[in-house]
Amino acid sequence: MMSVIVNIFPSALRALKEIGTRHSPNETGGVITGTRQFSNNALEFNILGVLGIADYEEFRGFFAASPTEFTCTDKMGWAMLTLKAVETFGMSYIADWHSHPNSSLKVLSSRDIKHLTQQYVLGQFQPFPPLHVLISWPHSAGFKVSAHIMLGDVIAVLEPRVITN
Ligand SMILES: [Zn+2]
Repeated sequence: MMSVIVNIFPSALRALKEIGTRHSPNETGGVITGTRQFSNNALEFNILGVLGIADYEEFRGFFAASPTEFTCTDKMGWAMLTLKAVETFGMSYIADWHSHPNSSLKVLSSRDIKHLTQQYVLGQFQPFPPLHVLISWPHSAGFKVSAHIMLGDVIAVLEPRVITN
């Protein structure tokens, strides 16, 4: 049985919360850079860099956002955001992320799952499986980050481990 570990740097966690909060009540999203490896039958992701598409003037018009929806409307625009993230952080593109500021949406929607399935089928992150990070606010006091990894016909949901020194 393969084990999956997802780690997140404190700065990446802060960026997700900050970007998600800033664009609330609308959903928002973007790309994640970091590292990943497969060794000793364990798949390990390290989430290090986060960019939000709504923060950049040049990407306006490449997505649609409302309190209940966030969608990329221009695949080439998303690819340009990915390139910007890779250049900014000097690391690989390993995942997408989006927010659910509406507290009733703590899990991926059926549309989100369809998107993740499509990335899996297309082998977009091969040889690694696609990872999707969701940030939500299930309690008024705090936010929650969950990592969704598609492994064949199942989606593993994990709480990323915050890396501390
Ligand atoms: Zn969603």
